[in-house]
Amino acid sequence: MNFLEERIQKDGVVKEGNVLKVDSFLNHQMDISLFEKMGEEFKKRFEGKPINKILTIEASGIGIACIVARYFDAPVVFAKKSKSINIDGDMYVAEVMSFTHNCKNQVIVSKKFLSEEDHVLIIDDFLANGCALQGLISIVNEAGATVEGIGIAIEKGFQIGGKTIRNMGYQLESLAIVEAMDPATGEVTFREQ
Ligand code: 5GP
Repeated sequence: MNFLEERIQKDGVVKEGNVLKVDSFLNHQMDISLFEKMGEEFKKRFEGKPINKILTIEASGIGIACIVARYFDAPVVFAKKSKSINIDGDMYVAEVMSFTHNCKNQVIVSKKFLSEEDHVLIIDDFLANGCALQGLISIVNEAGATVEGIGIAIEKGFQIGGKTIRNMGYQLESLAIVEAMDPATGEVTFREQ
């Protein structure tokens, strides 16, 4: 088991409805030493890629993205969730279905912060059905920028997102891939990587 899998075993809580709670170290209280190890690992996995920008989505991707960004010496841009329909032409917009909140959000990024010169590493905390990632990818494409890779902390391998994104041809690196989890026993099984 790697450092993140060990931490999930120790402190993750399996909830009903295929939800893994990791709020004691990842997306509410944040363990920055753990994030640094994640940054180091992503740096290795995306070695040689000309990454000059990190893109994530609010809120829980931001903390991880900021620490990862230090390893790539690149700024972080986060897509903002917006309920408003009247978005002016200065924004890239994508529709994203939220897995945890079961609602649709528009996510927006200002055109000022993403352009065809950008080589983007997308970072997020979780990958489930892949809606959040698809929204971010479409924003990068709309900007004419390049997706150099996608780094995820925890992929739920029993949901469709990972397969879909890999089939699209992207280098998707998930530090922990949960193959199965049982809310009754709390047991979490990881995919061998
Ligand atoms: P997707 O768009 O891939 O279906 O879901 C990704 C988003 O939903 C992530 O950004 C994350 O915030 C949230 N999410 C999905 N599954 C889980 C989960 O099991 N636990 C937590 N805490 N968040 C999740």
